[in-house]
Amino acid sequence: MNPAVMKAGLETLYYTGAYRALAPIARGRGIIFMMHQVSRGAPPDFSPNYGLHLSPEFLGAAVKRIRARGFEIVSMDEALVRLASEDAAPFAVLTFDDGYRDNLKLAYPTLKALDCPFTVYVATALPDGSAELWWHAIEDVIATQDDIAFARDGGAERLPCRTIAEKAAAFQTLHEWLWWADEDRQRAFVRDLAQRYGVSLKALCERQAMSWEEVRELAADPIVTIGAHTVGHYALAKLDAARARAEIEDGAKALEAALGARPEHLAYPYGDPRAAGPREFEIAKELGFASAVTTRKGLLFNAHRAHVHALPRVALNGDYQSLRYVDLYLSGAPFAIFNKFRRLNVA
Ligand SMILES: [Zn+2]
Repeated sequence: MNPAVMKAGLETLYYTGAYRALAPIARGRGIIFMMHQVSRGAPPDFSPNYGLHLSPEFLGAAVKRIRARGFEIVSMDEALVRLASEDAAPFAVLTFDDGYRDNLKLAYPTLKALDCPFTVYVATALPDGSAELWWHAIEDVIATQDDIAFARDGGAERLPCRTIAEKAAAFQTLHEWLWWADEDRQRAFVRDLAQRYGVSLKALCERQAMSWEEVRELAADPIVTIGAHTVGHYALAKLDAARARAEIEDGAKALEAALGARPEHLAYPYGDPRAAGPREFEIAKELGFASAVTTRKGLLFNAHRAHVHALPRVALNGDYQSLRYVDLYLSGAPFAIFNKFRRLNVA
């Protein structure tokens, strides 16, 4: 959905008070929030990945609002216990994907001060220093160039990126194409682009990602759960079955080797239907994970007890950093409407 249309719809729900009327039927048992990066200050003019950021101040305010609305913030383990029980007290889970260093430097102190449990799903290529963070790489290339040359479907193409508007359009063009492209072709394209325009994927990864030592530092605090997020952060459903399984299993093994405990919980990279479907849900179950989360939007209902390897989440970041949205999300009303009142969106 167009973000402007989405935001307008959310504002209407909020200011008309309709969300309060819908809450009794739409409000679920619990909610899992999804976040990625935490940073301070206003984003630069060209910052196409800002949608994945939130500030530590907003994070702290959101925790207080979630609690004030009667939701207890619990670990992923505890969320499964609550979901399986008849205990009617609503619960919330905070999750961060990928393994960014700012999770340790900014999210952790904020949440520690509030004694708030959270989960970080680590794709192990990040602490390995070998992750190809292609969405950051194309941003870095476009940010420094006036135009870029590349070949997608045979023919040579150029995209101007002199102005902020041109940079935004170039990012959108490449991002959308790479989002749908074959995963190996996507990575080969980005490696080539980065190399030709002087962006080091390794330096980029080391700048953004936690080292293994930092992951261990975070994992040492009992308020933190480290979950699996595969090795190389591929859209698993685009890989063949053996490779998808190996990505999940090898990621879990690498975490176990580094931390001394096998992760119990998994997040599918990207987590949308293009990236994770029934085949991946089955693999996660077979590999013994207690839960696995998607990025399909929604709250948790009793029906999810039978689908703990395809749990929905709600993103909390970017332009949606407002306590109004926290209230809306907790009510469940936006998802009831967007999912056309299908309470279980796991198809
Ligand atoms: Zn991810």
